[in-house]
Amino acid sequence: ETLDKGLEKTNTNFLNKLGKAVAGKSKVDDEVLDNLEEILVSSDVGVATTIKIIDRIEERVARDKYLGTEELNTILREEIAGLMSETNFGDATDFSVPAKKPYVIMVVGVNGVGKTTTIGKLAYQFKKQGLNVVLGAGDTFRAAAIDQLQIWADRVDVPIVKQQMGSDPASVAFDTVQSAVKMDADVVIIDTAGRLHNKVNLMNELTKVKRVMQKVIDDAPDEVLLVLDGSTGQNAFEQAKQFTAATEVTSLAVTKLDGTAKGGVVIGISDQFQIPVKYIGVGEGIEDLQVFNKIEFVDSFFR
Ligand code: GDP
Repeated sequence: ETLDKGLEKTNTNFLNKLGKAVAGKSKVDDEVLDNLEEILVSSDVGVATTIKIIDRIEERVARDKYLGTEELNTILREEIAGLMSETNFGDATDFSVPAKKPYVIMVVGVNGVGKTTTIGKLAYQFKKQGLNVVLGAGDTFRAAAIDQLQIWADRVDVPIVKQQMGSDPASVAFDTVQSAVKMDADVVIIDTAGRLHNKVNLMNELTKVKRVMQKVIDDAPDEVLLVLDGSTGQNAFEQAKQFTAATEVTSLAVTKLDGTAKGGVVIGISDQFQIPVKYIGVGEGIEDLQVFNKIEFVDSFFR
């Protein structure tokens, strides 16, 4: 229900465009394919993934000799769902975390993408299940980042570990994990700096944060969640490229899918980086985070 509401704009735009692409045509020909290519690119599916999808449809046209435009929806949906299955994601159905105590999530991403908000919404969901959550204010470069996370910690009513602005993010991560162990916490969510770095700095910083956490828990973090703003299209691809080069990203959260006609970014990014999209943000409110479900998402595109 909420997903439908959240992604309304995405649906309407994609379907409208698709309708225009086949207007007055009864079969899928080169012109329809050209139009479709343009729609996919303008929906931020990305060029590489768009070409993949078009190729697959061309193959089907070649094989079946004829493909009616009424069938295009179904075929397209099958191909996109198939592509997403290859990434093997969308399995989770709720906000549960593995029973490993504490389960450590390190959150990375550029300023402004919705990192703090996503951490707050996640903390809320985990707490709602009765889990003990601890937050770590590892973005020490901006006072506002620490303050914002504190606001979420108060709102959700979970403890937060922080230091002064300008302190070493790795030191905050160390403190957080150590406190979490002491408090017997179930889940730890650690924020990291969101400055736009050069690649080497970013890599050094994230590596250091991880290394220091591992002094407390050998195999921490259990998850490196990259937050991307779904409304920024190519920037989101670029950020995914930078962060995956700098550290081993294990999951993605794509935010702001409520306000954009460009939900295709989810399809393209998951295909190109082969990393599961775990959560999607569909608003600014505390409840506006959803566990990503592949089938629902693809359906919402074609409804
Ligand atoms: P950060 O700098 O990455 O920590 O970003 P914030 O969490 O502070 O979010 C930046 C802005 O984006 C804030 O105004 C948030 O309310 C807003 N925001 C975050 N997630 C979403 C979302 O899913 N949808 C919408 N519409 N706004 C969001």
